[in-house]
Amino acid sequence: MKIAVLPGDGIGPEIVTQAVKVLKALNLNLEMTEAPIGGAGYEAAGDPLPDATLKLAQEADAVLLGAVGDWKYDKLERHLRPERGLLRIRKELNLFANLRPALLYPELASASTLKPEVVSGLDIMIVRELTGDIYFGQPRGISMLENGEREGVNTMRYNESEIKRIGRVAFEIAMKRNKKVCSVDKANVLETTELWRQVMIELSTDYPEVELSHMYVDNAAMQLIRAPKQFDVMVTGNIFGDILSDEASMLTGSIGMLPSASLDANNKGMYEPSHGSAPDIAGKDVANPLATILSAAMMLRYTFNDEVNAGRIENAVKKALAQGFRTADIWTEGTSKVGCSAMGDAVVAAL
Ligand code: NAD
Repeated sequence: MKIAVLPGDGIGPEIVTQAVKVLKALNLNLEMTEAPIGGAGYEAAGDPLPDATLKLAQEADAVLLGAVGDWKYDKLERHLRPERGLLRIRKELNLFANLRPALLYPELASASTLKPEVVSGLDIMIVRELTGDIYFGQPRGISMLENGEREGVNTMRYNESEIKRIGRVAFEIAMKRNKKVCSVDKANVLETTELWRQVMIELSTDYPEVELSHMYVDNAAMQLIRAPKQFDVMVTGNIFGDILSDEASMLTGSIGMLPSASLDANNKGMYEPSHGSAPDIAGKDVANPLATILSAAMMLRYTFNDEVNAGRIENAVKKALAQGFRTADIWTEGTSKVGCSAMGDAVVAAL
């Protein structure tokens, strides 16, 4: 099993080191090769997605990524910025389905900014479309109008087959869970998402056991805070999913707890934490590596079909939390604060 390991920038190398440590402790037959991406790619080869990195990722069965980005690259031309490397690799590998579970570990109920009774028992899977929508739609750009003022344009676009394939992923996942799909759109205002809603309804006839509901994105943002346990699987487009999944992360205590998987049509996947490169805490050994470690568990489950070892990693994370180990972002009175590397060690010990 070949894994391309792309640590990236900021806290990326620290958290990926912990996930690699956990994978190695499982003693599986994994071939892991590292390559630079994002700012690190720009530094190494003048390109946020160097050709060699893309080739490695294309030839691998799965990609384990840290995070990309740093404020010091904000002045670079747009195509050279770290985030472009990330958008390009998702597009090049055709990773259209982004799975972001928001699961609250009972031990962390008090770390959430919401009341424990609102979030305890929370288990939501957000399915976000990743290769279309306003992030990729043409035309786009900033241009000069005839009257001399500037105008910015982005285009929200989805075709039927793009909506269908992400819808299918959501329905299939719901079949293995509580059989509820909530499709999030803004069909009252945006035609693109009016089509989204129509296609979801058509698709639902293939899944009579699944209960399909619809919600406008503004209401969904509110309901996620008001009564998040009403949701099982949420499916939505790229931009709404980007925002809602970050919102959902706070239900679980910290964005440092949230893994993600991005899959193509054959379950080849890229696995990464939902958070960014956190330049504010990079290099200080304080970042929470659990989102990345849990992403490695998702890799074993979705790409390598290894439910047993995925479960072993998840149980080891639970055990480390039950033993009271906490990084700073999830620390509460009475628990023991550890650094990034010590948290990785705690998970390995629990394994
Ligand atoms: P961020 O997610 O990096 O950080 C937001 C806040 O959460 C910060 O206070 C940070 O310290 C904290 N945080 C994030 N991950 C943490 C962890 N594992 N443990 C403890 N605390 C953690 O978002 P940002 O500050 O908006 O962006 C910083 C950089 O990351 C930017 O360059 C942005 O473009 C990039 N970014 C990258 C990705 C990605 O690689 N997938 C996603 C989002 C943002």
